[in-house]
Amino acid sequence: MRIEAVLFDLDETLHARTRSLAAFARRIYVDALPGIAGQTSEEDFVEAVLRGDERGNRPPEGLLTWLANRFDLGLTAADLVEVYLAWEHPVLFDDAEETLRRLRPRRLGIVTNGSERSQAAKIANSGLDRWTDAVAISGALDMRKPEPGIFEDICRRLEVAPASCFMVGDAPEHDVAGGRAAGMRTIWVERGPWPSGLARDYDASVARLSEVVPIVERWDRE
Ligand SMILES: [Mg+2]
Repeated sequence: MRIEAVLFDLDETLHARTRSLAAFARRIYVDALPGIAGQTSEEDFVEAVLRGDERGNRPPEGLLTWLANRFDLGLTAADLVEVYLAWEHPVLFDDAEETLRRLRPRRLGIVTNGSERSQAAKIANSGLDRWTDAVAISGALDMRKPEPGIFEDICRRLEVAPASCFMVGDAPEHDVAGGRAAGMRTIWVERGPWPSGLARDYDASVARLSEVVPIVERWDRE
């Protein structure tokens, strides 16, 4: 059956979120030199930011308020939030753009949970906007993965049926179970462990994004 559209999660699927956060931390550190050097090393500072992030499970405002209080950075927590939300140097996984390019001419979309401002900035500043026909951001829609509504919304805008879409993502519940419940085929991107209590109900799993292309092409022929 013809696959009409391939939808991707953003953070830790296309966007190397942890690497981006480390780059953000390095920038903040360098901008706070020389005063920060007497408080902590760059390496320890980056490590503290990554640890405080709890793999994205902590709201950025909490992490950044803690940082502003813990270190004398010459920035308020509000300043840090501003820099973070508009972060100009998001890092994509090495094969992200190449994968999207090879999936053309199928329709391409992003389905992401997060604030409209931060997710839209990442998509624009990384150049992903050039590759996507539609984007669904939970903060803009008042629906979030794994709710079927957010997947149905992007299908409507792409004018495709869920059954002719693949949803590709790293989050077992949000992307894989959510995409499946909305009637899509799903590919799990293995960036971490699969939770023990959840059935492995996906069409394929991949270690690298580029592996998505031959899987989609195979479905086209079936
Ligand atoms: Mg993700």
